[in-house]
Amino acid sequence: MLNELTLFGNLDRVQTAIDRLKAFAELAEAASPNGYIVLDSGGKDSGTIKALAFLSGVRFEIVHNHTTADHPLTVRFVQEEQRRWRESGIPYLVKYPCYKGKRTSMWDMIVLKGPPTRIRRWCCDVLKKNGAEKGRFAVSGVRWAESVRRKNSRHLYEAPVNAKTLVGFHSAEDAKGYLEREPARLARGQFMVNPIIDWTDEDVWEFHRRYKLPYNPLYDMGFRRVGCVGCPMGDNKRELEKMPEFKELYIRAFQRYLDRRPDLAETHFWRNGNSLYRWWVENSKTANGRQLRLDSDGVTGGMKNE
Ligand code: SF4
Repeated sequence: MLNELTLFGNLDRVQTAIDRLKAFAELAEAASPNGYIVLDSGGKDSGTIKALAFLSGVRFEIVHNHTTADHPLTVRFVQEEQRRWRESGIPYLVKYPCYKGKRTSMWDMIVLKGPPTRIRRWCCDVLKKNGAEKGRFAVSGVRWAESVRRKNSRHLYEAPVNAKTLVGFHSAEDAKGYLEREPARLARGQFMVNPIIDWTDEDVWEFHRRYKLPYNPLYDMGFRRVGCVGCPMGDNKRELEKMPEFKELYIRAFQRYLDRRPDLAETHFWRNGNSLYRWWVENSKTANGRQLRLDSDGVTGGMKNE
């Protein structure tokens, strides 16, 4: 619930989130005249933080990282959001993925790095974080309720230690203390503010209803998350059966990966893009990502020596 009466008084989650944003607004503006970067994935959590940034009166711009594997309805929704926010005077940038200075895509990256899996999520670094501007203050809609992993690893405020590592804080005072003690660290990455980290799904939808926010139509079609089509974090087998054009793109990219890596024939049972695809949607989500299973055509997936 967005408003709750507790032993210590009325808990107003919207006001709390606004205060969390305001706490670093000055520093965000000192880092850039555009202030915060509000990260928009096209999902409901992003919708919430965009509206909170607007309500709080902080200066901000919005950035959406197009992954090239986004659902067509997400692409359309983001285009509509871009138009709406720009009409309200808020800068809104759609960024396209680059790798080593060149434009790339999910499909070209698979050829280089192989299938993205739950334990090997190179895709987030290349496609989602996509050249995050160092030294800036960013706002994300990450929430503890999304997964146990997030509950155990994410914080209200997160400051860079180096380009790859963040250190987390549960209070603005502690986070500001860190920035004062270690001012050079900020230039190594992005400072993250996660104002709805402790919100539930129901809080997010209540907020959408209260402010009549537009949202991605995928939710009305039963989707709980709106990441890439075929994301290994979800049930990509079922999803890709419904989207054969994306399934085909993955199989073709897997074939190109195997063509580039003939050495894998020595250690793996994958014979072609199809068998690698079957391993990917059926077996790669097991504990070590290498368990064997007999496919319909008798081809086993994964490592030969397991
Ligand atoms: S949404 Fe899934 S597939 Fe897309 S970048 Fe994130 S982990 Fe990778």
